[in-house]
Amino acid sequence: MNDYNVLDIEKMVRSIVKDMKMEMVKSKEDESKDDESDSFGIFEDMNEAIKAAALSQRLYLRYSLKKRSEIVNSIRVELLKNIEQLSKMGVEETGMGRYEDKILKNKLAIEKSPGIEDLKPEVDTGDGGLTLYEMSPFGVIGSITPSTNPTETVICNTIGMLAAGNSVVFSPHPSAKKVTALIVKIINKAIEKVDGPKNLVVTVKEPSIENTNLMLAHEKVNMICATGGPGIVKIALSSGKKAIGAGAGNPPVVVDETADVEKAAIDIIDGCSFDNNLPCIAEKEVIVVDKVADKLMECMANYCAMKITDIKLLNKLEKLVLNEKGKINKKFVGKNADYIMEHLGIKIDPRIRVIFAEVDKDHPFAVEELMMPILPIIRVANVDRAIELAIKLENGNRHTAIMHSKNIDNLSKFAKDVQTTIFVKNAPSYAGIGFGTEGHSTFTIAGPTGEGLTSAKTFTRKRRCVLADTFSIK
Ligand code: NAD
Repeated sequence: MNDYNVLDIEKMVRSIVKDMKMEMVKSKEDESKDDESDSFGIFEDMNEAIKAAALSQRLYLRYSLKKRSEIVNSIRVELLKNIEQLSKMGVEETGMGRYEDKILKNKLAIEKSPGIEDLKPEVDTGDGGLTLYEMSPFGVIGSITPSTNPTETVICNTIGMLAAGNSVVFSPHPSAKKVTALIVKIINKAIEKVDGPKNLVVTVKEPSIENTNLMLAHEKVNMICATGGPGIVKIALSSGKKAIGAGAGNPPVVVDETADVEKAAIDIIDGCSFDNNLPCIAEKEVIVVDKVADKLMECMANYCAMKITDIKLLNKLEKLVLNEKGKINKKFVGKNADYIMEHLGIKIDPRIRVIFAEVDKDHPFAVEELMMPILPIIRVANVDRAIELAIKLENGNRHTAIMHSKNIDNLSKFAKDVQTTIFVKNAPSYAGIGFGTEGHSTFTIAGPTGEGLTSAKTFTRKRRCVLADTFSIK
């Protein structure tokens, strides 16, 4: 995983951007040829958007699997051409995250979200004939997307939902409405380019709570997929429809005395600082055994991170990034470490990606899902205490946990007891979504409803097709 440390990330981004320059020029030329009468999936009215997506899905059902695959591939190609603009706009419009990391996240979603190959049939054969089980589309899916991964979620949802034969209505966070409209437009153009149906992917110009509620209740919407905090997951699960809930996380990291401490420090900072800690999978607190705690912090401080030792400064930082109720101050979510420190009147090297401090186990920095590059470190006596505390701080989200250890018994114990959807051993958290590792990627990780790392098959209905008395050649 050290293939993906901070310096390498910068190199990778430069080469991706260079490769795309030529394609960008070409896509700009295409843009000037836009048909004014085509909405490219963007509607004033949510009802009209849903109606169009429902009609489109009926047409889409008649398309061959070959065409479906062509549509998905065209979407991947066009999104890749526009990755620079989408990543830039994602940061600028939401005011959160890092451009170079958004490029990597978007690229990961474009390239590693599975297509139609994910829809594997099952079969029973025997004297009674042949019974086939197929993964059929659900119909129209209403997808609610977060501000923290505005384009990444649209990309993986679109690829998975369309590969499964559905159409999709996106209801984004209002703070990401422009970039969502842009990506929906690019996707519709990509579909039209290979003669696919119009309005397979739609959204509204002005997303709002009212529009989301309308979508949740609409008779033509067959499935809801909500990616966001606990509030929206609860709302989605109360919709009376089949709902996939991808909720909040507060991923703990456990480091025991057998860990490669130097590597653990690098992995933790790389994971925690990725897109300024916005990903729901990112390291949010570290629990380290006393024996290696000092060494771990020393290694972290030697690698793009700054330790706060002054308790007064720590209190000031707490007052800055949390409100009176102890909840996060959204002004600092997804911001750079130097931006945060500047608000305390302290100038730090912009290359410092994480601020960390040793804190008590009940400190709000450990309990709250901060989504800022501020990392609390908690020292405990031994690995059993560490696992116990990590489970408590994970807070039953069943989301993500990380451990640095060479002891397979310790690794197994934590993995089994914490019950998270993702468990990463000896790597940065992003290894858990297939970044530089095996396995597919997604930015919709459904812990509360149990689908786990979503993909095309998640967005299907299992149907049975029976042929009596024949076609068995056993
Ligand atoms: P958020 O919960 O504020 O918003 C998520 C979406 O829900 C947005 O589209 C928002 O407009 C909508 N929404 C929120 N409250 C609503 C309401 N009352 N009625 C109608 N719509 C409502 O979250 P956010 O700040 O955009 O994203 C960060 C959160 O999402 C974090 O908690 C993070 O852990 C979580 N997240 C989870 C995953 C996952 O895969 N499990 C992925 C990304 C983000």
